[in-house]
Parts: sequence; structure tokens; C-alpha cells
Amino acid sequence: MESLFAEQDLAETSGGNNFADIILPVPIPRMFTYKIPALLRSQIQIGARVIVQFGKKKVLTGIIGKVHNKPPQAYEAKPILDVLDIQPSVNPLQIRFWVWMAEYYCCHIGEVMFAALPSGLRLSSESKIQLNPNFNPETSKYPLDLREEKILEALENKDELSYEDCEKILGVKTIHPILKSLVAKEAILIFERVQEKYTPKVETRVRLVPELAADKNALQAIFETVQGKPKQESILLKYLRDVPVFQNPKLNENGLDKASLLEEGDSESSLKTLIKNGIFESFKHVVNRIEEEKAEREAYDLSSTQQAAFEEIKTHFESKQCVLLHGVTGSGKTEIYIKLIQEVLESGSQVLMLLPEIALTTQIVSRLRQVFGSQMGVYHSKYSDNERVEVWNGVLSGRFSFVVGVRSSVFLPFDSLGLIIVDEEHEPSYKQFDPAPRFHARDAAIMLAYFHQARTLLGSATPSFESYYNATQGKYGLTELQHRFGDASMPEYHLANLSADRKKNLLKLDSTRMMREKIQAALDRQEQVLIFQNRRGYSPYVQCEDCGWTGQCVQCDVSLTYHQFAEELRCHYCGYKEKIPQSCPACGSTQLTTQGIGTERIEESLSLLFPEARMGRMDLDTTRNKYGYQRLLDEFGAGQIDILVGTQMITKGLDFGKVTVVGIWDGDRILNFPDFRAGERAYQQITQVAGRAGRRDVKGQVVIQSRNPENELFDKVLRGDYFEFFRQEMFDRKKFYYPPYVKLVKITTRHADFKIAEKAAHALHREMANVQAKKIVLGPEKGIIARIKNQYQFESMIKLDRSGNTQAVFKEQLAKILEELQSRPEFRSVRWVVDVDQS
Ligand code: ADP
Ligand code: ZN
Ligand code: ZN
Repeated sequence: MESLFAEQDLAETSGGNNFADIILPVPIPRMFTYKIPALLRSQIQIGARVIVQFGKKKVLTGIIGKVHNKPPQAYEAKPILDVLDIQPSVNPLQIRFWVWMAEYYCCHIGEVMFAALPSGLRLSSESKIQLNPNFNPETSKYPLDLREEKILEALENKDELSYEDCEKILGVKTIHPILKSLVAKEAILIFERVQEKYTPKVETRVRLVPELAADKNALQAIFETVQGKPKQESILLKYLRDVPVFQNPKLNENGLDKASLLEEGDSESSLKTLIKNGIFESFKHVVNRIEEEKAEREAYDLSSTQQAAFEEIKTHFESKQCVLLHGVTGSGKTEIYIKLIQEVLESGSQVLMLLPEIALTTQIVSRLRQVFGSQMGVYHSKYSDNERVEVWNGVLSGRFSFVVGVRSSVFLPFDSLGLIIVDEEHEPSYKQFDPAPRFHARDAAIMLAYFHQARTLLGSATPSFESYYNATQGKYGLTELQHRFGDASMPEYHLANLSADRKKNLLKLDSTRMMREKIQAALDRQEQVLIFQNRRGYSPYVQCEDCGWTGQCVQCDVSLTYHQFAEELRCHYCGYKEKIPQSCPACGSTQLTTQGIGTERIEESLSLLFPEARMGRMDLDTTRNKYGYQRLLDEFGAGQIDILVGTQMITKGLDFGKVTVVGIWDGDRILNFPDFRAGERAYQQITQVAGRAGRRDVKGQVVIQSRNPENELFDKVLRGDYFEFFRQEMFDRKKFYYPPYVKLVKITTRHADFKIAEKAAHALHREMANVQAKKIVLGPEKGIIARIKNQYQFESMIKLDRSGNTQAVFKEQLAKILEELQSRPEFRSVRWVVDVDQS
């Protein structure tokens, strides 16, 4: 594909140019040309935010991508309405990265921009009111009622009010009729105010009037004025206690925030009197939502093994852009990262470290925080828009030279990255499924590092086959750590035969004797237990025992999932939910039973078996709240929970010394991954969860329950020989043309009408046959789930040869084909979703 930008364009300002191409957050495959008005000319810079009219009514925030002198052919260019940035919000490297992403993942640059720029940096428009300049209360022929008068009064002190302001003034919720009436009476005007969504957090603070604070002798006089007024005196004393200005007058500058000054029940009116009497003054202060935190420890000295790995990585970096650190769980990878990060920061470059899902790995974040303190920014997936903007601005301003973040942190405005670390690089959650850009954060990180001339370190105990393949081919450097740090040894595996044991299991609790004995032994020794339940591709559901009815989603062809806690049935694809029926909607029977065991059921079963043990459960339900995850981890870390039952969440990076037993409740489920990655995923999951056991001096025990323990995959995984496993699996990948030997592109055709969806999918298929690139096209087939959100799905799978420019040729042709198909009237409302490197 012809690149949207030539490199020299990226460094330019408007110069003598009259037009600018603007990237707008819309899913349309091009930029839009606007006129540069003479007045704004000096402010035009690549990467600056602008506002422009789009369509008839909409005002959008865009980014200047390019400036030139070519008027558009097909339409008359509208003028840019305003330039928002003095310093561009986006730098040229980011724009290059966006362009690459749009091309590689077959989406539109506007979609990338939409994902990349925090929504707090885009504009929103809000309705506001102002006085009608023609209004004169003396001559007005309309009488005003009390509430209307109150609004007008307020408008005398303030030029404009939001609807929310009006609600506050009147203390009512329905403000529209009142405002409408005021408009009819020609008293006010309603207008749209376009403003940034980001609002800084402002605190009201209080400090001593500066002259008093600077004068040591003033103290006496101040106390005299409050004598006999105990409330005022108490406020004054509290202030001087918290802000000892007479020891250090500089402290007075920042004062104390009003809320904490009044916290202990002091009266606001006494404070007001103190202000009126010229002792205190109040002022506004912008505070960081993201708190400053101190570094609390030095990095550890590396062991000799770690030191050797550290040196080897640096040697690789001399000749390779990317290095894979393959180190078993608990081998001390994190400490090696810390040393590398320190070196790069000292050299003056920035560092980005990606983690699968920050909420799930707070333990590693706090370890990093202890060493890096406030220069480290965290980019959370649960952050609000405002918080995201603060991290963004923190990177722009240099406040954060190091960011630890989830996959979207690749979009932050770095300008001089020296190193990107991708921890747990094998994690499937690095791939974004929906919406576009459907990017893989690891692969995007490698590209981003390349644009910055930076290095990338991939770390994992169970590398993805893609990365390991690249390493064995010499494309990446490879450094391996075979042993755990210190005296810790690798855990021991036990396969427990569920079907053989179940007959004897009167309680029918789906647990084997082996599982119960190991748990009991751990409890007796006052150690901790983790029980893992794989949730992917599986959910409990409710069924009628008499007629077999199960709840189905009304919009998707899937069964509804049973949520015991909320007493609801929910669709995991579209969010549809309903209350659990009392009786069967099909036959009226009241014999409704739950099928499949969720984490809730396991927790219940275990508390029957071990009534004395303190149980905890970690899954989507118990961690929905921002702090839920942290709280459970804290409790577990403090030894207040003996057995923690959880989903994938408990497998990632947890480091607790007292965990000696890990149970995998239903091992078979791990093997049933429905595609060519089944083996790879099983190896990763079992190894990762087992890796939580025995991380200090006591050897860990891992019990895997299975109905089919003879499955040879278990045998291969439990041997723990990654390289041998890799070698065998890769043999099949090669034979059947799967990644990493080919590139996979999945195209889904969607439409509400089954016939149209089917026809469109076949039309696409015919067109693709003509593309001159080495490829195999499979399908179209009905999606695994035939209908989602009332849309029927057909899937085509394309395997692209990795050699030469096959990929580029194919993607360029595909874009043309899709544009042409979309222009056919019969397919106008069909949607095509392209997923590159689907995983
Ligand atoms: P990994 O990331 O490879 O799973 P960690 O970095 O979590 O391993 O290390 C495992 C444990 O060993 C952690 O508790 C960590 O604090 C400790 N550890 C690792 N390296 C050192 C070191 N050089 N000095 C002291 N403790 C270390
Ligand atoms: Zn029934
Ligand atoms: Zn649904």
C-alpha cells in the first residue's frame, strides 16, 4: 500500500501551504482535506489537535497529519475552525506508528486515532445558557416566576451556566421546561459550548496570609485575635500543627486543603471568619489525580546467574533489536528487568513495560514502584478518562520517564524510547479483538521500538511459538534461565483420575482423593492453596430436568450463562440478561438445575470438605470493583485466606511464598482449546498456574484432575521440557500450514439477514481468488457462533505465505476488494471485519 505519509512531510509546519489533511476519529479509509485560514496559519503544526466541521452538524477533534497545496478534487474544503494545541499532542513518531498499524491490521487510520487518543483529549459539546442581550427586565412583557428570576439572577454574576449549574441553583432535576420557558420569554439563549472533556482536579486550599507567614513575630498577634474563640483557635492550631510555617515559611505556599483542615469537625463558618479577618486566605490548586509515590528500596543485587543473563541480553542488543528472555517461573526475570530499566533511564531515554492486564498484576507494579517511585507512570485499564489524560500529559511533560501499562499504553506520546519490555509476552490478552485496530500489543511494541531505534525485551516462562521460532531462527537474541531464584525448586506434578475416583466420592464434589489429601496436608502445615478453574470457552448454565430447556440469548445463538451471585442468566457476547425463572418457560416444571461447575460451586464444595479453612474466590464477579482484586490479594498475602479459588486471574505473576499446593480442578478443559494452538495454550496455562506453587524453600505440589489422564498432551506438558514440546508441535504447524509458518488473516462477514450475509461472504471469496499473492483461502463457513447481536456471521480464513511481499500485496488488494463490495447497493449494510494474526 502506498504510505499515507512521506517521511519528510512529518517534520513540517504549515509554511506557505494552504491545505491540511486531518486525521479524524471515523472509520473511513482516508484523511480529510481542510483549508488553513490565514489567522490560524502560524499555529498549524503536524500532530496538533484541531476542530473541524464534519458533515452537516458534527464538530470533531482531529489531528493534523499533513500540510500541502493541493485542493481536494471531489469536494470543496471547509476551513479548520480552531487549533487546540500550542505544543502538538501527538508527535511524528506516533503518526508513523498509527499509519503502520492501520496498514498492517487492515483498518482505517481514524480507527487507530480513536483508540490512541484518550477520549479526554477529544472535545465534547455541552449545552449552556446565557442572557439574551436584547432582554430588558423593565420593558419585558412576560412576567417571570420565582424560579426563572433565580436563574436570571445567577446569570448576572456568571456569563454562562450549564444545565447542571441550573439544577444546582434551583435544587430540581427537571430543568428543561424552565429553560424552554425562559427562551420563549426571550430572556436567555441556549448555545453549544465546545470544550475539552478533560477537567483538571481542583482543590480548595487554605493558607496563612503570606505577610503573616513571613513574619515570625506575627504569631503572638494572631493568637490574640482568636482569643476566647475556641473554634477559630482550634483551626489555627491544627493548621500550624500540619504546616509548621514558623519553622519553614516556604511550607505555607502549598497550604492545606480545606477538606482536611475541616475534617475533624471544625466549623466552616469559623474558617470563613478567619479568612474575613485577614488571617487565612483560600486559593485553588490543581492536583494530580495520580499520586506521587516515593521509591522505597534499591534494586537487589543480581545473583551470578541473573547477572550473566543480564550481560548476555545486553550483548544481544548490540546486534539484535529484539531479545527473548525465556526464564522458568520464579527465576527472577523481574529483577533483571529492573536493572535494565535503570540503565536505560540513566542514559536519558524512556522505557515502556507492557503487562497483560494491570489490575491482575498489582504485585509486580508495587515491586517496580518501590524501586522507581514517582518517575514511573501506570496506565491502567480501569482508569477514568481524566486519569488517562494525566498519564498522557505526564509522558509529554517528562514527569513519567517510565510507564508500566496495559496494551493501549503503546499509544502514549513517547518521543525517545530506549527500551520496551513485554512481560508474559505469550499472553493471548495482548491481542485486541474488538473494535479495530485489532492489534497485538507485543508485535506493535516491536514495531514501535523500531521507529524509536529502541530495543525490545520479551519475557516469558512459556514463550509464544512465534517468538521462540524467531529466536531459534536467529532473528531475536535468546537468553534462558533454567532454574528458580535461590533455593526454590520446580514444583512436582500429580495427575488425579477423576472418573476412577468419583464412584467412591459420596459427596459428589468433583474432587479426587489426591486433591483432598494434598489440600489437607497444606492446611495442616499452615500453608496456602490455590485452586484454578479454567473459564475460557466454558460457562455454567441452567437446564430443565424434564424437557431439557436451557436459556438462550434472544440476540445471539448461545446459551445464557448462570450467575449465582446476581441470580441472573447473562449473555457473554452481548450483555443481555434476565432473572432466573422460577419454573421452566417451556414446560412449567420447577426442576431447574445448574450444569457445569463455576468457581462459585467449587468454593462451596471446598468449604463443605474443609469447614475450618478460610476461603476466598477471585473471578470476574468478585473483582469487578476497582479495588476488589487488590483487596483479595492483600488478604491472601496477609494469610487471612487459606484456599483461594480463581479463574485465569490467579495465574498471572503472583508471587506468594506460602503457596505450596496448586490444584487444577478440571484439567481436561485446558486441553480443549478449539484450534491449532491447543497444545501451546495447554502448556502455557498449566505451567503458569503451577508456577505459583513452592516459590521459596518448600517444594510445590500441583494436582491436575482429569477424566482422561492418559491424554498424551498431559504427558508432554508435565515433562516440562519446553524445547522438546516446541519441536514436536512445530512439526505439525509446518505440515498443516499454521503460524508461525504462515500469516493468518480472518475475515468475518456480518449481516442481520442470513441470505445476504451468505451471499456477501461468497462474493468476497470469489474476488479473493483473483488476488495475485501466494495464499490459501478457506471458507466461507458459518461462524462457530452463527449469530451474535442479531448479526449472522460467515468466516473466511486466509493463510499467507511469509516470503517476499505477499502480505503487503494481499492487504492492498483486500482493501480495494472490500471498498468495491461495499459500494454495491445489495451489500451496503454488510460489515466486514478483518483480523490479522488472529490468536
Ligand atoms: P519471575 O519474574 O521470573 O517469575 P521473580 O522476579 O518474581 O521471578 O523472582 C522470584 C522471587 O525471587 C521473588 O520473590 C523475588 O523478589 C526474588 N528475587 C529474585 N531475584 C532476586 C535477587 N537478586 N535478590 C533477592 N531476591 C530476588
Ligand atoms: Zn422444561
Ligand atoms: Zn447475546
